[in-house]
Amino acid sequence: MFGPDLILKFEDFGDAANSDRDGYRLYSGASWKLVLWRYYERVTTVSQETQPLQDVHVRETVPLVSPCYLKQEENVTDNAVRTVIDGRETVKRIISGSESRLIVVLGPCSIHDQVAGLEYARRLKSLSDQVAGTMMLIMRVYFEKPRTTVGWKGLINDPHLNDTFDIQTGIRIARRILLEVANMELPAATELLEPITPQYIADLISLTAIGARTTESPTHRQMSSGLSMPVGFKNGTDGSLQVALDAMLSARSAHSFLGIDNDGKTCIVNTKGNPWGFLVLRGGRSGSNYEMAILADAVDRLTEAKLPTGLMVDCSHANSNKDYRLQHVAWNDCIAQRVAGNRNIVGLMLESNLNPGSQSLPKDLTQLRYGVSITDGCIGWEETERLILSANDKLSGLK
Ligand code: PEP
Ligand code: MN
Repeated sequence: MFGPDLILKFEDFGDAANSDRDGYRLYSGASWKLVLWRYYERVTTVSQETQPLQDVHVRETVPLVSPCYLKQEENVTDNAVRTVIDGRETVKRIISGSESRLIVVLGPCSIHDQVAGLEYARRLKSLSDQVAGTMMLIMRVYFEKPRTTVGWKGLINDPHLNDTFDIQTGIRIARRILLEVANMELPAATELLEPITPQYIADLISLTAIGARTTESPTHRQMSSGLSMPVGFKNGTDGSLQVALDAMLSARSAHSFLGIDNDGKTCIVNTKGNPWGFLVLRGGRSGSNYEMAILADAVDRLTEAKLPTGLMVDCSHANSNKDYRLQHVAWNDCIAQRVAGNRNIVGLMLESNLNPGSQSLPKDLTQLRYGVSITDGCIGWEETERLILSANDKLSGLK
């Protein structure tokens, strides 16, 4: 930090220093370090004398491992680098229409168990090889869950599932899982919720989603403008497409905002803008939005806004009326639209797990059922395989 010789009073500057009412604004000759020091001195002095002015509702702050340290611990392999680069490039080709395969992002609503998550990944890799002629399968590896009110916020936030919020461990497990998935040559998709998280894991991600609750958030739009992979913006929970269109426009522009660098240091992030944003339709409060006429309208609006028209349909969430057993309805409808020639549908999303359904998080964790979601309900592996293989049959005649 700064040496004691920097603890100077304003009077020490004589005419070189000028001050405002509080005596803390410095002019010529004063370094920013001195300003920071004075501010620190002032806050601590005041808090000792009267009442704290900051951190009033903060219980504690705990330092977190830096991104570069974690990356040394869980270092990318050549294989993982190839998976991510190939994954991102293939997504770009598909969403821009230069490749005709269909992207399918599928996997658990959230990963809460490393073993089950990796078992799912192994099965998916083998399925992916079988259908590689018609589809690019990308695993949903979601670690951050946006909650409408409260609830488990995902494996990074609470990896032990018991409200101990051991983020230090959560971020490590998340990176380890992503690394293993990439080493299997299976591309991964995630939702990025905390703007700090990308520095820790985004190098292993081929596709990012910005969720329905955060598409309208300037923070997430700015973050997306600097992300290295294509980003799908979901329509709002009320079904509004406008927030997603605005997000796409915003993320294409350069932004300057506050973030952290690879060393974990607070910094100003100046981005170039990310041209690889696309629309994801997930239904809304007024119902589903995957039907032919609605998609045609969405394409018109994208065209009008001069935005790319390749879109993804999430068959889950409000497009299945929040009933995982109905995901096949949107799925089959969209596959039929593709077979009938709709090339604007470039991707589909499914929430799928080893076993169907969902379970609430029990207090006694030994009661957890293996391979069953603890967030949104998912179709099980058998149905997943059935949907993918039947779509493969339908799409294979088209190439
Ligand atoms: C999700 O993908 O699990 C999710 C929370 O989606 P949405 O933002 O569409 O609700
Ligand atoms: Mn979900």
